[in-house]
Amino acid sequence: MIGILGFVAVFGAGRWLGWPARWLWLLAWGWLLVLLLAHAPYMPPQLGEFVGGEFRGWFVLGVLAALVLAYRSLLGRVRGRVADPDTLPRGQRTGAFAPVELERYARHIMLREIGGPGQKNLKAARVLVVGAGGLGSSALMYLAGSGVGVIGVIDGDAVEGSNLQRQIIHADARIGMPKVFSAEIAMKALNPFIEVRPYHRRLEAALAAELVAEYDLVLDGTDNFDTRYLVNRVCAAAGKPLISAAITQWEGQISLYDPAEGGPCFECVFPQRPAPGLVPSCAEAGVASPLPGVIGAMMALEAVKHLTGAGSGLRGRLLIHDALYAETRVIGVKRRAGCAACGGA
Ligand SMILES: [Zn+2]
Repeated sequence: MIGILGFVAVFGAGRWLGWPARWLWLLAWGWLLVLLLAHAPYMPPQLGEFVGGEFRGWFVLGVLAALVLAYRSLLGRVRGRVADPDTLPRGQRTGAFAPVELERYARHIMLREIGGPGQKNLKAARVLVVGAGGLGSSALMYLAGSGVGVIGVIDGDAVEGSNLQRQIIHADARIGMPKVFSAEIAMKALNPFIEVRPYHRRLEAALAAELVAEYDLVLDGTDNFDTRYLVNRVCAAAGKPLISAAITQWEGQISLYDPAEGGPCFECVFPQRPAPGLVPSCAEAGVASPLPGVIGAMMALEAVKHLTGAGSGLRGRLLIHDALYAETRVIGVKRRAGCAACGGA
């Protein structure tokens, strides 16, 4: 009787105290060893009677338990290797990690600032990326690699040969394909455990609010000002944080605009839309191939930090990277009273 109660106590107390399953099993095996020793021939018979049962009974139980565990572990390994995440029920995709996922995200989980809880946050997160161009290329790939559960990507363009100098999510063989589908292929090839939602259209005002409402965080890597201001307005109205970045030739900038949490919005910092033609696009002015990769990776990094709560983000700070002279500086930015997008403060 005491023998059985011991197991109940181990699992009951362990569960109550929130111990990891591995500790519970270790304690349970330890207790079984104690029970077997209590029935050993050189022990006083009263001890065996006190814990109950007999040596053979406990021994058979131990062997059976070991067989069950070995079978489950083998099954888990086989299943994990062939797991097709698309066939997993939704709950399983957002909940527990399959063994192969734990292995995949091990370098994240061992980081003190991310760990298991942070990786779960990433898996439960929904991130919308506006633009599958240069900035989107590395942002999308690293979001996929990081294990962000649902990644939406919206872009109305198709892959062109002149994109491939820097838009490394695409491929020569996919010239002519809508960028969002090309990006989906690359992201799913890197990480089949995530859900990619491609929207092959330009972000327009009529759609934007409804779309943004479905996501926790928005990344804007477009190169046109209409979309940039539109995304900011929609995010500010919906109270969604926005990581927005821009590049020209050799210089990039990035910040987290989050007026719901007291930071400025994009329009607080850039109230005046530049006159048409004043700020040339990449197509007009050129851009160094790795620059969007650097800034796009920073977008993904700030997204991972924001979703896991690691470190300090870029709320209220604008990071400017001058690649030509290898200089990076950060300037403070504030909310602007009477801002048309977020209302200021
Ligand atoms: Zn504002």
